[in-house]
Amino acid sequence: MIAGIELGGGKTVVAIGTATGLVQEEWRFPTTTPAETFGRALQWFAERGTPEAIGVAAFGPIGIVPGRPEYGKVIATPKPGWKDFSITGAIAEVFPAAKVTLDTDVNAAVLAEARLGAGQGVDDLAYITIGTGIGAGILSGGHLIHGALHPEFGHIKVPRCPGDEYPGICSFHKDCLEGLASGPSIAARWGQPAAELPRDHAAWDTEAWYLAHGVLSLLGVVSSARVIIGGGVSQAEGFHEKTERILKEIAAGYFVPLSASPYVVPPLLEQQAGIVGALLLTGI
Ligand code: ADP
Ligand code: ZN
Repeated sequence: MIAGIELGGGKTVVAIGTATGLVQEEWRFPTTTPAETFGRALQWFAERGTPEAIGVAAFGPIGIVPGRPEYGKVIATPKPGWKDFSITGAIAEVFPAAKVTLDTDVNAAVLAEARLGAGQGVDDLAYITIGTGIGAGILSGGHLIHGALHPEFGHIKVPRCPGDEYPGICSFHKDCLEGLASGPSIAARWGQPAAELPRDHAAWDTEAWYLAHGVLSLLGVVSSARVIIGGGVSQAEGFHEKTERILKEIAAGYFVPLSASPYVVPPLLEQQAGIVGALLLTGI
């Protein structure tokens, strides 16, 4: 039995399926306290058997590097009760023999998109999500990048878009990429939720400008062959095309991967990427 858990800030998804990413049965429920959320998830598995492998795709920051003291734990989160909670510890109490593979939600998503979605056949792929926060999962030479913790793409510094005086909303850095371009920053800057801003609103030029600068930095470091941008904010009509156009302008003819067209694309798996990725994690 192969199992997957997608732990999101708002909702949790559990599934049983295959290590090739096929979901056979799934259940979605709101994320509440750690004890209640994992109690429900593990009980749901137990009713179906004993998983030999469990893949977990979780919101961060989270310790995903085996051997490090913070491995398996949620590190710093405003979500009450979650800080220092050990995901791997909770699973081991119920299924001590299960092989657990833990990674970030965005790494799970990039893996799923690379195997079954908008990045098929691409070994150097990035998946960026723009919603309440900004994050990126990175596949490099077919391997998921971890580093000492995991990448924190949302918190890179970007230049100021000319004319933009909004101070930024990140509680740590104010005007990092997430502080300037996440859903809440758009709502605060323009006084209207991103989902309600008309297509021709100036907000979308600013948004694409910031994302293009973020992607340029990513390209400078990991040289992705394709970039997938998902998350609620990316659903604005024409967003991917606009970001790609600005990105190619500011790259000024440099960066070989940018000769690909399209380079910035939407995801294909949408809501399923996290849980499909969690199942795929059991096979890596
Ligand atoms: P979360 O990050 O909490 O999982 P989402 O990825 O759904 O959530 O992102 C939520 C954000 O996406 C909100 O700021 C919302 O205004 C914005 N959003 C949702 N739908 C659209 C849309 N069609 N166009 C632009 N923005 C959208
Ligand atoms: Zn920040």
